[in-house]
Amino acid sequence: IYILAIESSCDETAAAVVKNGREVLSNVISSQIALHTLYGGVVPEIASRKHIEAIDGVITQALQEAGVTLQEVDAIGVTYGPGLVGALLVGLAEAKALAFAVNKPLIGVHHIEGHICANYIENKDFEPPYMALVVSGGHSHLVYVSDYGKYEILGKTRDDAAGEAYDKVARVIGMGYPGGPKIDAAAKQGNPDAIKFPRVFLEEDSYDFSFSGLKSAVLNYVNKQKMLGEEINPFDIAASFQQSVVEVLVGKAIKAAKGKGLQKIALAGGVASNSALRERMKEACAKEGFQLSIPSPILCTDNAAMIGCAAYYEYLAGVRDGLDLNANPSLKLGER
Ligand code: ATP
Ligand code: MG
Ligand code: FE
Repeated sequence: IYILAIESSCDETAAAVVKNGREVLSNVISSQIALHTLYGGVVPEIASRKHIEAIDGVITQALQEAGVTLQEVDAIGVTYGPGLVGALLVGLAEAKALAFAVNKPLIGVHHIEGHICANYIENKDFEPPYMALVVSGGHSHLVYVSDYGKYEILGKTRDDAAGEAYDKVARVIGMGYPGGPKIDAAAKQGNPDAIKFPRVFLEEDSYDFSFSGLKSAVLNYVNKQKMLGEEINPFDIAASFQQSVVEVLVGKAIKAAKGKGLQKIALAGGVASNSALRERMKEACAKEGFQLSIPSPILCTDNAAMIGCAAYYEYLAGVRDGLDLNANPSLKLGER
């Protein structure tokens, strides 16, 4: 089964051809990051316009690199939510037009299901059940994956997502957008124990997250240092902030996996490319006896291969969408 997949939910225009769910024949990503960096974050209207310019070329390249024609494709998978509505609509309209033109099934995919499925591409024998820690620009979820396409959200952020916290803290210490990779790099030159930032675990029995208090703590620290005329070391701030985030993420993921009696944990989303999170998660899983799956960094951030993998399992489950499928910017995981 060959799936042509399209992803345009945020600031990456992406297309991929995936064979039998787990074999990536091509994975083309056109990123707009350099453009949005000028504004310190993603500008939705600019994102939509850039998707329109890029999408035809990206799809053509994906088919060419895979050596597959549009007629040879068995289905077309596309992200239809959540995300920026104008951005989603570009990929969705393109997918519908192609599906209609060659009379192939259309399969709408949840963006976060895609992020989770990146693990199946990376590790060919990785299978449910497992606990997924999804940490991205817009989500921080602990998801119990009981089977393919079966998701139960055990916990989620009550305010900022992990990636959002990285991006906001980076702005406070003058590192620019996107903050995640910049803080990751800066933290390597800093002391993670230099500043005591809070670890927010919330109630004893909660799997929810909260990162806005930590973000405020960083902001307050920076303001206080400035007021006192003290030096501000951005490397120490980055390292200390990151250690606080990672400790909470790792602690809750392990606790949730134990709570459900699972043997496996998977990381997903852009923040899963964070080097400290990957390291600490590996250590914790080795110590606690969990099997761990982490996608390569290129499969953690937005791409279409992960959407192709998710679409394959939806295809096997019999999911087919009509040409009236609409973009849903606040689509919930597990809903259609
Ligand atoms: P969502 O997937 O929730 O809809 P999104 O698609 O915008 O949001 P992703 O592309 O999955 O998010 O991830 C982007 C986020 O990951 C950004 O917030 C970015 O700062 C963060 N990120 C990327 N690389 C790293 C890294 N090395 N360390 C920490 N954060 C990172
Ligand atoms: Mg992005
Ligand atoms: Fe994403």
